[in-house]
Amino acid sequence: GPAIGGGNGGAGAAKKKMNGYVGFSNYPNQQHRRSIKRGFNFTLMVVGESGLGKSTLINTLFESRVYPPKDGDDSSPRSGAQVAMPAGVDITSVSADIVENGVKLRLSVVDTPGFGDAVNNDEAWRPILENIESRFDAYLAQENRVNRSKIVDNRVNVLLYFIKPTGHGLRAMDIEFMKHLHTRVNLVPVIARADTLTPREVEQFKAKILADINFHGIHIFKPVSDHFDDPETISDNKAIASKIPFAVVGSEQYVVRPDGTRVRGRQYPWGVIEVENENHNDFVALRQMLLRTHMEELRDETDVSLYESYRTQKLLALGHVQDNSVFREFNPRRQQEEEERLHAAKMHKLEAEMSAVFKQKVHEKEGKLKQSEEELHSRHQTMKTTLEKQRRDLEEKKSRLTQSDAPHPVAATGSYVEPAQRMASKDKK
Ligand code: GDP
Repeated sequence: GPAIGGGNGGAGAAKKKMNGYVGFSNYPNQQHRRSIKRGFNFTLMVVGESGLGKSTLINTLFESRVYPPKDGDDSSPRSGAQVAMPAGVDITSVSADIVENGVKLRLSVVDTPGFGDAVNNDEAWRPILENIESRFDAYLAQENRVNRSKIVDNRVNVLLYFIKPTGHGLRAMDIEFMKHLHTRVNLVPVIARADTLTPREVEQFKAKILADINFHGIHIFKPVSDHFDDPETISDNKAIASKIPFAVVGSEQYVVRPDGTRVRGRQYPWGVIEVENENHNDFVALRQMLLRTHMEELRDETDVSLYESYRTQKLLALGHVQDNSVFREFNPRRQQEEEERLHAAKMHKLEAEMSAVFKQKVHEKEGKLKQSEEELHSRHQTMKTTLEKQRRDLEEKKSRLTQSDAPHPVAATGSYVEPAQRMASKDKK
C-alpha cells in the first residue's frame, strides 16, 4: 500500500488533514485556556538503537510524516536541527504544528540516532542526559529573565525508550541508561517490533523487564489514580498501566483485512498484524496515554517534579540556600502558581468543611425534631391520662349525683340538708 503522507516530508506535511482523530484537543481544561490559545509544546524524545522502528512508530503515532522518508538509506541525515554530540550520538529535533479542533500543538520529536550502535556503549546515556539537562538550563535562564512573556519551553516531556525484542530482559546498556535518566525525564519503556515475538513471549518478556526495573530501583512513568478520579478514569488508568512496558508494532503500510477494509498493519504469510488492534499489540494504549489521557500529566510532571528538582539541585550547587521564601521571591511565576494552588486547596477545604457543617446541622436538627416529637408524644400521653382520669372522676361524681335517692353518707346519720339551707342556717349563727 502507499506510504502515509504521500512522500511529503517535514513539518508541512504534518499539517495535512489527518485520517483519524488524534485526541490531544481533549487536553484543554479551564485552567489551561490561556496556554491553549497560544498553543502548547509537547516534546517527545525517542531513544533506542537504530532499526528498532522508532521513526516508523512516531509516524504511525501522528498519522503523518513527522520524519521525512529516509530514501532507503539509513545513514542519510534527517532534516531538522542537528547537534553533533560525542560518542557518535546525534540529537536531531523535528517539529510539527498540528491543529485539531482549534487547538494548536507544537509537537517536537527528538531522535537520538547512533545511540547504542557503538562497540562500547558504557557511556551511551551521557549525551542524552546532557541534552535533557541543557534544555532545563535554557528554560531556567528564560525564567530568570525580567521579561518572561516569550518563554520557549523545549523541555523533554516524555522519553520513549525502545527495548530490543530479545526476550531476555533488560541489557546492561538499558539499565545504565534508565538509571541515569529516570530522575530527569518521564521514562516510558516500549518493546520494539513486538510482532517478532509470540504473545506468550511478550508476556514473559514484560514480566522480566518489570522485574529488572524494580530490582534496580528505576522509576518509570505510570498512570496513577487518586481519590478525586471518577471510576471510569480509575479503570482506564489501570488498563493502561497494566500494559507497561508497551509492546508495540508500527507500520506505515496498509493491509487489507478479511472484511475488505484497509488498516495500517504488517502482512505476514500467516496473517496480518493490525497496528490499531488492541488484541494485536499495545500501540493504541500507548497513543491513548501520550496524546489523550496523560499529556497534561506528563507536562506537569516535567515542570513540577523533574524540572523543579533539577533546578533546586542546580541552585544548591551554586550556593543558594534551600529556602522557599527566597525561591518565591526569585520566581514570580512560580509564586503565582503556588498561590493559585494554595487558594484552590483552601477553597476545597472550605467546601468540604461547609458540607460537613451542613450535614452536622441537618443531623442535629433531625435529632431535635425527633426529640420534640417524642416530647410532644409523651406530653400528649400524660395529658391524655390526666384527662382520662378527670373524666373518670367526673363520671364517678356524676353517677353519685344522679343516684340522689340513694342514701347519702351525711343523710344516713341525720336529715339531709340542702346546701342552700345549710348556708342559710350558718348565716343565722
Ligand atoms: P529506527 O532506525 O529506529 O528509526 O527504525 P525505522 O523506523 O527506520 O525502522 C527500521 C525498519 O524496521 C524498517 O524497515 C521498518 O519497516 C521496520 N519496522 C518498523 N517498525 C516495525 C515493527 O513494529 N515491526 C517490524 N517487524 N518491523 C518494523
